[in-house]
Amino acid sequence: MAGIYIHVPFCKTRCAYCDFYSTTLSELKPRYVEALCQELSMRYNYLHNEPINTLYFGGGTPSQLSETDFQKIFTCIDNIYSLKACQEITIEANPDDLTKEYVEMLTTLPFNRISIGIQTFQEPTLRLIGRRHTAKQAIEAVHRCQQQGFTNISIDLIYGLPSETPEQWFQDLQMALSLGVQHISAYHLTYEQGTRLWQMLQKHEIAEVDEDTSVELFRILCEEMRQAGYEHYEISNFALPGYRSRHNSAYWHEVPYLGAGPGAHSFDGESREWNVASLPTYIEALEAGRRDFERETLDKDTQYNEFIMTRLRTCEGFSLKTLQQRFGTTYHDYCLLLATPYMKRGWLLQKDDTLQLSPEGIFVSDDIISDLMKV
Ligand code: SF4
Repeated sequence: MAGIYIHVPFCKTRCAYCDFYSTTLSELKPRYVEALCQELSMRYNYLHNEPINTLYFGGGTPSQLSETDFQKIFTCIDNIYSLKACQEITIEANPDDLTKEYVEMLTTLPFNRISIGIQTFQEPTLRLIGRRHTAKQAIEAVHRCQQQGFTNISIDLIYGLPSETPEQWFQDLQMALSLGVQHISAYHLTYEQGTRLWQMLQKHEIAEVDEDTSVELFRILCEEMRQAGYEHYEISNFALPGYRSRHNSAYWHEVPYLGAGPGAHSFDGESREWNVASLPTYIEALEAGRRDFERETLDKDTQYNEFIMTRLRTCEGFSLKTLQQRFGTTYHDYCLLLATPYMKRGWLLQKDDTLQLSPEGIFVSDDIISDLMKV
């Protein structure tokens, strides 16, 4: 099994916290679609004919593409890789794009999952972080998708926003839960260097939440989601039973995937590739019949680090036997040696053959994961 990720790099405007690769050069859309199909065609053998299980349109803002754009891309993917075995086809969308007509159009395409970037329902914060929609628009967008028959809807939220209080985050979660969506991803804000929000922080125009508040916000998140019946299946991801993201779960279990589009990453089991993160350069290269990308072959330390980093973030943790089989006794013993103090503190649990974070360990997962990694 394998996955395909399509990076759609267009955004109407840039949000203040975002450092993903995207561009406001919407006039390049027709050339982008052609270049994307050219890349997909050039890389026909990257996944060695593995059946495609998941397809994910991420961004940027995929909901900036038109019906004709999607039809071309779907036809191209189906012809080259076949979507017969594909179980999950996701589109990321911004609430302001999800008009009645646009959602109706999406239902005529093969999408069966929609992921809506809401981030917060607090109006002043939405404006501060440069989102293009209001809370009302976000709520209406979810209702519209539900009315049009989408039965697998995810929303993205951000917590730890400037000066955010536990009460505000609790309100956001109650609103999110009242929407009845199947999946919620919630990420703590990080101030990425160079973003507008980072600059505001440097100038003391906004205040970062302190560490105690961060922990409290995460505690509220875990508790409210648990009470509402969502499985906490990865540190930042919650799903009603049966609605885990297959695409992201595949990433966390090292399933190969092809990432197409500017800045997209790919993984074939042994190496990673990443396309140039510039739309004009990406297009020019493909129009000249070549790809502009870099590749890194993963050495054993890197593979081990990725195994620890991705598996430990999931609720299942990982099998020590699998660790031993894949990396040998030295890595297995190294991992257990460094895990022992955390097991004694009750932050890591060993259940038979499995090592996983305890509910308390999730709060300090970054420290534990980085300690278990090879430097
Ligand atoms: S819409 Fe998404 S990708 Fe575009 S700037 Fe905002 S957060 Fe970044």
